[in-house]
Amino acid sequence: MKRKRILVTGGAGFIGSNLIERLLKEGNEVICVDNFYTGKKENIVPFDCHPFFTCIDHNIIEPFYLEVDEIYHLACPASPTHYQKDPINTLKTNVIGTINMLELAKKVNSKLLLASTSEVYGDPEIHPQPESYRGNVNPIGPRACYDEGKRAAEALVFDYHRQYHVNVRVIRIFNTYGPKMNRDDGRVVSNFIVQALQNKELTIYGDGFQTRSFCYIDDLVEGMMRMMNGSDDFIGPVNIGNQSEFTIKELAEIVIELTASQSKIVYLPLPIDDPVKRNPDISLAKSKLAWEPKIPLVEGLKQTIAYYKI
Ligand code: NAD
Ligand code: UDP
Repeated sequence: MKRKRILVTGGAGFIGSNLIERLLKEGNEVICVDNFYTGKKENIVPFDCHPFFTCIDHNIIEPFYLEVDEIYHLACPASPTHYQKDPINTLKTNVIGTINMLELAKKVNSKLLLASTSEVYGDPEIHPQPESYRGNVNPIGPRACYDEGKRAAEALVFDYHRQYHVNVRVIRIFNTYGPKMNRDDGRVVSNFIVQALQNKELTIYGDGFQTRSFCYIDDLVEGMMRMMNGSDDFIGPVNIGNQSEFTIKELAEIVIELTASQSKIVYLPLPIDDPVKRNPDISLAKSKLAWEPKIPLVEGLKQTIAYYKI
């Protein structure tokens, strides 16, 4: 079989670097494009000596040309702390960056998969969230640069498909965690593990009764690849996430127990527009991709804790 040339934008980030590891293992050639805005060189150092891996330092807000068969389009800061630091940059990455990647896909006739997000559902009024739910997003709040940016990116992907017949896929990723998440990422799983390992107070925002559903990275990568390699008749959007829902307080207690930590919990103010609950309806992924997550939270957390201990 011909070796595929695959571009991964945002490949030095948490999800991108885990995806690249799997793509290389399966014998593909991988080109990572990243400007290291939140990504880390250490995430891709293990691939440096691989004969079929290349990394290009490039900001996708600028156009880019390369002959490839497939594009996994992930470039975008994903943690609220990072995407709100420079919201205009987040919007430009989502809108101009996505246009640039779609133009590339159109020019070289490659397939493009967009890493969208459960944030397109905003603070949902329907629970769990099916793909048909159109969401409850505050278009002028501090999360809008990300939520509306991703909604615009989805619209662009579907317009390039309708207008130019670009072969596309859209997945909506729900909270994912695992090794290679930056210690200073700011999202809840990495924050709690780092705090617990240092016996520092775990910072719960709000009362801790808000919920999230946490998916282990290996399950997500499997779902992403099934979507990319699946039938051209099913382009999404499709939810990829774990259905086991936990309150943030429960998560804090589990992390303290698994790390045998002396940490206490401290309660801090809830950020504006922080969604109250989030849980994916994954019926579509089950029926169309024969995909469902396999790794329970406690097992995934053990693997993640082991990574942070090194
Ligand atoms: P991350 O911050 O670890 O990775 C994002 C990567 O994109 C980084 O390496 C960063 O340097 C790069 N990047 C950002 N702006 C860029 C630009 N303009 N040009 C080139 N590179 C740029 O985040 P992640 O968790 O790995 O998320 C990857 C993708 O998955 C994002 O698009 C995110 O929206 C999506 N997603 C992630 C989650 C999650 O739970 N991790 C949930 C929903 C969606
Ligand atoms: N959160 C928290 N403490 C932290 C980081 C996050 O209580 O140190 C909360 C946050 O307010 C949200 C949930 O955990 O309710 C998930 O936050 P995260 O930033 O991981 O992802 P989100 O789903 O909000 O994008």
